[in-house]
Amino acid sequence: MPVSQFMAAANAHYYATRDPLGAGGDFVTAPEISQMFGELIGLWCADLWDRAGRPDVAWVELGPGRGTLAADARRAMAKAGLSPPVHFIETSPRLRAAQAERVPDATWHDGVDTLPADVALIVVANEFFDALPIRQLIRRSDSWHERLVACQDTLFLPIAGKPVPADVLPDPLRDAPAGSILETSPAGVAVMRALASRIARQGGGLLAVDYGYEGPALGGTLQAVRGHGFANPFETPGEVDLSAHVDFATLAAAAQGAGAVAWGPISQRDLLGQLGIDARTTALIRAAPDRETQLLADRNRLMADMGELFRALALTHRDWPAPAGFGA
Ligand code: SAH
Repeated sequence: MPVSQFMAAANAHYYATRDPLGAGGDFVTAPEISQMFGELIGLWCADLWDRAGRPDVAWVELGPGRGTLAADARRAMAKAGLSPPVHFIETSPRLRAAQAERVPDATWHDGVDTLPADVALIVVANEFFDALPIRQLIRRSDSWHERLVACQDTLFLPIAGKPVPADVLPDPLRDAPAGSILETSPAGVAVMRALASRIARQGGGLLAVDYGYEGPALGGTLQAVRGHGFANPFETPGEVDLSAHVDFATLAAAAQGAGAVAWGPISQRDLLGQLGIDARTTALIRAAPDRETQLLADRNRLMADMGELFRALALTHRDWPAPAGFGA
């Protein structure tokens, strides 16, 4: 089967059968590190809504995990006068249950199509696009081939499948050396395009934070994580978290093609810095001086290596203001 089908099936099983987040799970995400992450994203949303003239909006999160970001963002938005209905796009029943504990009044969706069509949409996504299935093409001496995963009993191996026409490759990358891999994310592009055309029609904005690059570029980034370490992505499918780096330039182009304005990507460090993470850290320390060491460590975790690796892409309706942090 194509790598994309393998990744989709493996991740569907993986997310349906566990809560992978936290110290006892496989990986930790920014909202699980610190409440400040969700709060600052909530303030980003409330600020955009305020400067857009306080229209009717629905608040949407893609792949909300445990619902931690949503709960933190909601508290911050409410303090700023915004209490919108919450809509989650989430396929895992297990994680839907975890989200319902933190945001009981949310409405759940399998995809973008069923989101409300009569109000502006403010959409956030943290570590969502990296979980969507990617397609891989591999260069052999003569031509490019779809990369497949072959299965024998419980052994899975990546192999080169049928050749693909050279014109599906971006021009400058066509003549890459043998062994080169090119990834595309048809699923990510489809979600981005659908949301961008909703935002173009209904008003609103989007903030997506993830690790990634500005492609298209050569290099395989498919990775597996288990117990906070890397694993072989082709071993024990469905028991490891599969993800791939996000091509922000391609997502931004898809969004612009669908009629939205794209901003960034900028680093997570720049985003959180501009949104006032240092003032928020100081305020939390003042309220709980005994937690100072922990609060500073959490702040540093979001801003140091992770702050550089993770990036933020924003979208807005063409008549909406520039989003906070993206300068203009
Ligand atoms: N945003 C959360 C969780 C990130 S993990 C956080 O930052 O902590 C990825 C999330 O996306 C999980 O909630 C997972 O169940 C969801 N997800 C993965 N693939 C999905 C898909 N195809 N459709 C909808 N949700 C998906």
